[in-house]
Amino acid sequence: MNLKEPNPCQAWPQEGLEDLEACPVCEDPRRELLYRGMTDRVFFCAPGQWTLWHCPGCGCAYLNPRPTEKTIPLAYRRYYTHDISPGPVVPGFYSRLKQAITNDYLWAHYGAESRPRLPLGRFLPYLLGPAYPRGLGIWVRRLERPMKDAVCLDVGCGNGGFFDVAHACGWRLHGLEPDPRAASAARRRGMTVYESALPRTGLRDETYDAVTMSHVIEHLHDPVSALQEVRRILKPGGTLWIVTPNVESIGHRRFGVNWRGLEPPRHLVLFSGASLAEALDRAGFWPVVALPVSLRPFGLFAASHCIAAGLDPNGPASRIPQRIRWLAVSAALRTWLSPEQGEELLVLARKPTQP
Ligand SMILES: [Zn+2]
Repeated sequence: MNLKEPNPCQAWPQEGLEDLEACPVCEDPRRELLYRGMTDRVFFCAPGQWTLWHCPGCGCAYLNPRPTEKTIPLAYRRYYTHDISPGPVVPGFYSRLKQAITNDYLWAHYGAESRPRLPLGRFLPYLLGPAYPRGLGIWVRRLERPMKDAVCLDVGCGNGGFFDVAHACGWRLHGLEPDPRAASAARRRGMTVYESALPRTGLRDETYDAVTMSHVIEHLHDPVSALQEVRRILKPGGTLWIVTPNVESIGHRRFGVNWRGLEPPRHLVLFSGASLAEALDRAGFWPVVALPVSLRPFGLFAASHCIAAGLDPNGPASRIPQRIRWLAVSAALRTWLSPEQGEELLVLARKPTQP
């Protein structure tokens, strides 16, 4: 991969930019400058320099000007569709033992039918501290086993990395994915995938029991309209699970413009807890519950350190200095005590049963 930073002189096509008159979440016209001159230092493929603004109304941050919907694919030429599956189990006694312990924990807490399972293994993850069992809960997206045959839509499903997990938890999983190559990869797993994107899904009203959006909402031009569309396709009482970078995180405060979560110009809106709640409220979701967030910030810290040092943030973690590891440990402890400072926001919202 050629890691040459895009030439700052290489501008985004002028006709492919749009100006916002107000915050894309709360419509407040006031804005405060956060950073100027930002470039793509994550995938090194998007031309242009970007300006990020803070909204004093709701607390989000947003790009302005920003790429239009028509030209945003220019920023995705080297973007990979994230695969959250843990990958193949490496043969070996300890890895199989860990898998059997994990499977028993997921069976006990989420009804996931994965084998092999170690009897009473469900109690062992707690011996490793709170981060490991919490990570498992995030991995299954809190999809507890449904009473009946239920269908979930994974928005931005990529190559279908969530398919096996959802299936093990008793759900039928459909996907929404605009990238045809990723959609084909997901179909090869046996998944039903629609090649469209929010807010124009073309799906029928009240089709889904649950919708999941993992690192999707920060990429959308109009997050409130997108959430309204999700509300439309959810059945009454259906749930929406969202994870997105937290602009009020310890990592953002520590690394500033080099924080990996900013990712201009693909991340158009960066949410705070209050602004995500505002967007969900405007879209008609209630109640909105903040879920326990990940206590493993090392990956984001390592990537942010690389961005600050002019290195590839997707490279191996072995070259990360020890002080960054200690910073991550300290951030994990602080996040445990005050989750609103975590690197990500994690919420579960419900579509009311009454219109
Ligand atoms: Zn706002």
